[in-house]
Amino acid sequence: MKLTVWTYEGPPHVGAMRVATAMKGLHYVLHAPQGDTYADLLFTMIERRNHRPPVSYTTFQARDLGSDTANLFKTACRDAYDRFKPEAIIVGASCTAELIQDDPGGMAETMDLPVPVIPLELPSYQRKENFGADETFFQIVRALAFKVERTARVTCNLIGPTALGFRHRDDVTEITGLLSDMGVDVNVVAPLDATPGDIARLGAAHFNVLMYPETGETACRWMERELGLPFTKTVPIGVGATRDFVAEVAALAGVAARIDDTRLRLPWYSASVDSTYLTGKRVYLFGDGTHVAAAARIARDEMGFEVVGLGCYNREQARLVRGVAKEFGLTALITDDYLEVEEAIAELAPEMILGTQMERHIAKRLGIPCAVISAPVHVQDFPARYSPQMGLEGANVIFDTWVHPLVMGLEEHLLHMFRDDFEFHDDAGASHHGGAAMARPEQAAANETAAPQRPGEPGGEVIWLDAAERELRKVPFFVRGKARRNTEAFAAERGQREISVETLYEAKAHYAR
Ligand code: SF4
Repeated sequence: MKLTVWTYEGPPHVGAMRVATAMKGLHYVLHAPQGDTYADLLFTMIERRNHRPPVSYTTFQARDLGSDTANLFKTACRDAYDRFKPEAIIVGASCTAELIQDDPGGMAETMDLPVPVIPLELPSYQRKENFGADETFFQIVRALAFKVERTARVTCNLIGPTALGFRHRDDVTEITGLLSDMGVDVNVVAPLDATPGDIARLGAAHFNVLMYPETGETACRWMERELGLPFTKTVPIGVGATRDFVAEVAALAGVAARIDDTRLRLPWYSASVDSTYLTGKRVYLFGDGTHVAAAARIARDEMGFEVVGLGCYNREQARLVRGVAKEFGLTALITDDYLEVEEAIAELAPEMILGTQMERHIAKRLGIPCAVISAPVHVQDFPARYSPQMGLEGANVIFDTWVHPLVMGLEEHLLHMFRDDFEFHDDAGASHHGGAAMARPEQAAANETAAPQRPGEPGGEVIWLDAAERELRKVPFFVRGKARRNTEAFAAERGQREISVETLYEAKAHYAR
């Protein structure tokens, strides 16, 4: 047992639902207890789809357990076929149904339905949502794809976009455009918007573009082996990665590495003088492996940030993220426990967090600016406007998104110079986030030391003398947490129980060396 309040991923059958809902002409019959239909809301509310997911639940209840749950499943299967007439059906069990061992795959096979029935074995107690999506898509491809004649023109498949994927919709558009500029057409996008008939045509492409390893890698590996389709290894998130991706595609397709960067603004925006204050901002990255690996490179090479910590929640990508961390001289945090993530962030006291919806909550508690780079996400990260992460427009979107939560350069400077202002002060938040600003409490303004200690700035066992505490508050708020921690570590190393102004400056000199 594990005490859990937040989970980064759902159970694997939600991953299977993401594949089924992404596709057309496919139906999912899910053996599940009454109540599991809550998952519909992920698609109809968070992603705002205008139809119910193509999922039939058996919705068994306690009283059904005494009788024949297997028959319930068979009836659901038959009804789903009669009503929806899908081209293919996937069948599987949710966590509770896994325990009663009705074997949905075996039962569906005995029913002689006139369409392919693909059984899913998703171990709900060992694996999670991303595995569920990857495995489901793999099983569908394995069952339906076969060798077919290559298209006359150079084409590729876009593999991995699903329902409920973070910016998958717009990433597909962006990458399709990028490929079209190089003279490469898209054969099939899958699973998003693909039919079982489209899956049968996958083999006609010359190669695969693996957009999201989390949800498409197993299928790509199988297609490489069985259909002779090589696949791309670079995920084109960020300017450098997009250029590498274009070079990789050029080599696979035998075309010139053409890229139309007339709309690309990130490099100049990032180089322009207004971005100077971004240099060396200490950032912490957390999310799924693919987005974290991409974000680390952008943060360091394209924004000039300092990456002080990173990690991912999906252990399938642990190797990748450990490799990236090593390159940055860091140790990756591989965990699905948000309390561990919170602890790591509090310890490092970064100036910015790039993470998931969970990190937004952590950032709020710690008073640190935050932008979202990865699922899980809330409804606002399925925006109406065009907002890819991939390709050149994706880089523009990323620049705006990451800079927005930070206090702007002039205000940062003024906050440092005029800390006692009634309106512009540390606790007021950035002025361009109007609603966050609050008037400074009179009491706090009168007495600097009375300001509540921020989480992430632990007092520890050492005691801060009043004068030192006042001096500390002269340090700009966004680096104060780090200054406090460094000073405490410095004092602790020397066995000093009290921190004076001298200790503060000695520590500063020590760490500046
Ligand atoms: S079957 Fe799984 S997803 Fe459904 S309610 Fe039980 S634990 Fe949750």
